[in-house]
Amino acid sequence: MKVSPIIRQSIWIAWLLIVPIGIWITYEVHPPSSEISVWEVLPFLILMSVVAAMPMVVNNTPIFLIQWVSLAVFLTYGIFVEMILMQISVLILLMRLRVQKSDAYRFPLNSLMFFIVSLLSGLMFYTLGGSHGDHLTKDPYNLFLGTVYGISNYGVNTIFLVLLQAFVLKLKGPYFGKDFIWETVTTLITFPIGFVLYELYREMGLMSLLFVGIPFASLSIILSLYYSSDKVNQFLQSAAEIGHELAERLKADEVLDLFVQKLIEMLPVDYAYILDVVDGKELKLIHKIEFGEVLEPVANPLRKGEGISGLVWAEKKPVLFNSKNEWKQINSGYVPHSAESILSVPIVRNNQVVGVLVLAANKKRAFEKSQLMIVDILCSHFAIAVENARHHEKTKENSERCALTGLYNYRYFENLLTSEFEKLQFGQRDLLSLILLDIDHFKSVNDTYGHQSGNEILIELAQRLNERIGDIGTVARYGGEEFVILLPDMMKGDAFKLAEQIRLLIANKPFTLLQSMDEEGKQLLVNITASIGVATAPHDADDSLALIRHADRALYVGAKRSGRNRVAEYVK
Ligand code: GH3
Ligand code: MG
Ligand code: MG
Repeated sequence: MKVSPIIRQSIWIAWLLIVPIGIWITYEVHPPSSEISVWEVLPFLILMSVVAAMPMVVNNTPIFLIQWVSLAVFLTYGIFVEMILMQISVLILLMRLRVQKSDAYRFPLNSLMFFIVSLLSGLMFYTLGGSHGDHLTKDPYNLFLGTVYGISNYGVNTIFLVLLQAFVLKLKGPYFGKDFIWETVTTLITFPIGFVLYELYREMGLMSLLFVGIPFASLSIILSLYYSSDKVNQFLQSAAEIGHELAERLKADEVLDLFVQKLIEMLPVDYAYILDVVDGKELKLIHKIEFGEVLEPVANPLRKGEGISGLVWAEKKPVLFNSKNEWKQINSGYVPHSAESILSVPIVRNNQVVGVLVLAANKKRAFEKSQLMIVDILCSHFAIAVENARHHEKTKENSERCALTGLYNYRYFENLLTSEFEKLQFGQRDLLSLILLDIDHFKSVNDTYGHQSGNEILIELAQRLNERIGDIGTVARYGGEEFVILLPDMMKGDAFKLAEQIRLLIANKPFTLLQSMDEEGKQLLVNITASIGVATAPHDADDSLALIRHADRALYVGAKRSGRNRVAEYVK
């Protein structure tokens, strides 16, 4: 949370101006009874310190269940003692939360806040005629006043928190989130304990602290456990949802992006890295995000056991570091110096580590043990989803390509042609040219050099076509020794020129037969030619089948029949 320097300074100044003088005035107006000894108050201070040292953290807000003790202290000793003990408790709480130096303003802020809470609820109590030390049970009005104290204590506190979120932390609502509900419920549950402590202390003295303190401690532990199991439950639920979402993605890249995005949403992550185990030999960085920005994953590969991720790979176990001191000996490279907390999990498939996930944050203690477990679960979902997506991509690729030449096959070409024709009809394209090519006398090539050599020629021809066409169009294997080239937005004249270049590209350079040699042991070279037909929509055809038919007609009538090794365009 960012708080501007001006606000920080104002907080310190407000504290200096209000708190010391306020405490002094309180002392002057409502001095503690002179009979109270420090030794008498000390056990209460210890009880409050213990309570302050066990806050529950809900939604990043520490909730400390101290109101009940402060109520008992107030009713027993009055406003001044309560105020002082509360200030000490706040100090202990903040030290326990290990507030960082940059957030030091939280000390005066909380001190000021609790000073005002003590002051207002105490004044309310006195104004309505209350006086501390009275028996609550004897007079219902006293019990009422005690309740008023408790409610105003809680009320002022809540108003303060809302003002704080709105004006100091500048958070946008809702201010009454989960932490608010927890605070209210737990305060309500523990509040009556304050009355019990007060009455019991009058009756039995010090022992009452034990009698009340132990059940309270147990209650807080149970509440804390309940909260964390509730939290783990929610994490598990979102992990399951993320798992489903990952499984729905069909592209490996999309799976990876979604996975990292969800991790960043769920955890306080500043840096995220994904490393891939390459050939079981080294770890290669394949994804890098720093402060929400995807960066080029440049980093030296790591060996097994090298660096944090290398260690996770070698040990096959996740690690969690709370601060730099715990890992600075291990690191060898890419986790930035500003990082403190690190969570790293192996990505395991079929009992093999296939990758490593590294999450890091500048904050100390950013990740919890329960989160480690959830990330571990997510990583297994991720490993399966990536595998499935890769499998899907491969199957799709196989079903679209010709195994011999690697070119797109007829099925793919047909779909492409249909969708390109739709674009033509919807005005997204103006022209669509098609080149159909058939090798001349290929049968005799096969007969002379063998079928295997024929295949080699098909492969080399595919390469030559691909090289020439690049991304101006799409080359596909139409059938046996027939190839087709689809050229969106190319005029017929240009397509004809291109076809002529292709014809020369074939006729002017012999094809090498790698598997056969002549008598002198030299690689065999074969000259071949091809006949080519060209047609262009919408001029030559109204639908996709007609475009193919007309290019075919140009090929057979215009080129083959006129002597082969030539280009012909369709004429109506
Ligand atoms: P033209 O087209 O000039 O009239 O004569 P052609 O000999 O090329 O024509 P035809 O259509 O009669 O023969 C095509 C030959 O292509 C028949 C077949 O052996 C060969 N062929 C088709 N597919 C393959 C293949 O995948 N590998 C090899 N090696 N040959 C193939
Ligand atoms: Mg043919
Ligand atoms: Mg042929």
